[in-house]
Amino acid sequence: MTSSERAQRLAAELPDSSVPCPVCAAAVKGANLERHLSKTHGGGAGSAPHESRWGGPERVSSRRLLALGFLATGIGVYTAIVDNQNDRVVLGSLAFAAFTSIVWGSVAWSVPLFPGRLRVDHRGALLRHSFGLGRRRLRSIDQVVLGSAWESRPSGNSGDDYSASVDERIGTYLELRRGRRGIRVHCRTGGAVRATWTGWDQGKRRKRLDITLDRSEFVALQLALWELGVLTPRRQGAR
Ligand SMILES: [Zn+2]
Repeated sequence: MTSSERAQRLAAELPDSSVPCPVCAAAVKGANLERHLSKTHGGGAGSAPHESRWGGPERVSSRRLLALGFLATGIGVYTAIVDNQNDRVVLGSLAFAAFTSIVWGSVAWSVPLFPGRLRVDHRGALLRHSFGLGRRRLRSIDQVVLGSAWESRPSGNSGDDYSASVDERIGTYLELRRGRRGIRVHCRTGGAVRATWTGWDQGKRRKRLDITLDRSEFVALQLALWELGVLTPRRQGAR
């Protein structure tokens, strides 16, 4: 079932509740969803074809990739020291070591370099990351936590001698939890999650995020969580 079909089914079941538009993520009264789709999006609900698998830049700092980077850097340095008769090999090895340490550093700092995949359905939630090398699986989703996503950035203030950093809000996260395990899904423009759903718990500010989804995928995730009975639509006027 596509997220548009899910949204339309939700709207038909609960015409008095808020339904997130599957295209633009705005909170729409269930009874008005059909009109919103045809007026605002030209009837083109087809532009939201997501079902239960989504992809986006991952932010997982994978230990496996770290180990790989460490190993490659070690080999590069070792080759440079052992083969010191040949300048070309030395330079090549140093360049290789430098390259791997940059990749390694990016992973360690959770720069969203690699595409991740998230799947949520009746089997639970599965996050694939680090080129498919890494997986995190939740057999069921017992709790959903909603909070604000933050990022540390260099302040860019050239007057400072020290490298100061400022915290900046970069949107919203939804964390799917089972026991102590969790998958933290980030979206820059989260839309009206708070106004639309109940069934989530308030979470802290977070900087560590596992995957970033776009707006319509983030709505598709919410609709999938509704279908699993984890999130419940909030009645309009009862905020
Ligand atoms: Zn819309």
